[in-house]
Amino acid sequence: MQSQTISSYQTPSGQRVEILKQSFPSLRKRPVKKVAFVSGLHGNELEGVYICHLLTKHLSELQRTQPEAFQGEIHIYPTVNPQATAIGTRLWPFLSIDYNRQFGGPDGNSLASKCAQELLNDLKSSADIVIDFHASNLHLKETPQIRITEGFHKKLIPLGVHCNTDLIWVHPSLPMFKSTLGYNMNQSKIPTLVIETGIALRINQNFSNRILLGMLNLLYQVGVIVTNNPPAPVKRPIIVQPSQVIQVHSKHAGLFVGHTDIKKKIAAGEVIGEVVDAQNGQTLQEVTAAESGFLFTIREHPLVYPGALLGRIAKIT
Ligand SMILES: [Zn+2]
Repeated sequence: MQSQTISSYQTPSGQRVEILKQSFPSLRKRPVKKVAFVSGLHGNELEGVYICHLLTKHLSELQRTQPEAFQGEIHIYPTVNPQATAIGTRLWPFLSIDYNRQFGGPDGNSLASKCAQELLNDLKSSADIVIDFHASNLHLKETPQIRITEGFHKKLIPLGVHCNTDLIWVHPSLPMFKSTLGYNMNQSKIPTLVIETGIALRINQNFSNRILLGMLNLLYQVGVIVTNNPPAPVKRPIIVQPSQVIQVHSKHAGLFVGHTDIKKKIAAGEVIGEVVDAQNGQTLQEVTAAESGFLFTIREHPLVYPGALLGRIAKIT
């Protein structure tokens, strides 16, 4: 494994911050393919950082025992927003900038936009396929899923099916996505899968291990890793179109108490949870599934207000 600094800067207090890339070179002069894994654009999303650790550990061991397995190149960028990860905040510290909204626009003069440009350039020269790991925010727990912007789906779904996620959600293109890393890489014709899993500031080992298996399978399927003992078979994800996703909202301000976890098969009418009023002991809303399907998002943060998202159900046709 080789380590390289792709950006560095000095903080006002004199500390030097480095953004690192760990690389596993190919044995071949011309690598079969080059795959990159990026994590930590949002500093409070730790699931991807942990998956990068698992990947690095697994690949280091493979390099030691079967160096001939590396037919392609692998690059891992485990914490691309290191100061935000260090303190567990979503945004680039001090400037409160969303790092995943700094890509592809006119060159800004902030440190975040300079680092974004360097990351984008480095990825374009290092990768044919990119995986960008995200966890959910502090409010919602997400089953392991791939989010694809409509328009890129034809290229991305055939790669996404190897990743051992529960679902692939194709969603409409919104203007706010145009400044993300994933959108700009895909616009540059480098297929980039955005994986979303778990919840911010937590690590779900079950989800992380499932995605690790998916990533090893993806590397195997695209010919980057060739071994005699291929990874265990992965599950085929459900592919969900925008019209199949039903959102469940709170009608009141109060406390949401979930009565179920993420659930593969929830029946129409089944109770998801309740919204309660702390002051008068009343249940304000019994929250039920409007349709049968896969409850793939569930609210974890209890504080709600009218319109707050409590869950999402994918109708399975
Ligand atoms: Zn994120």
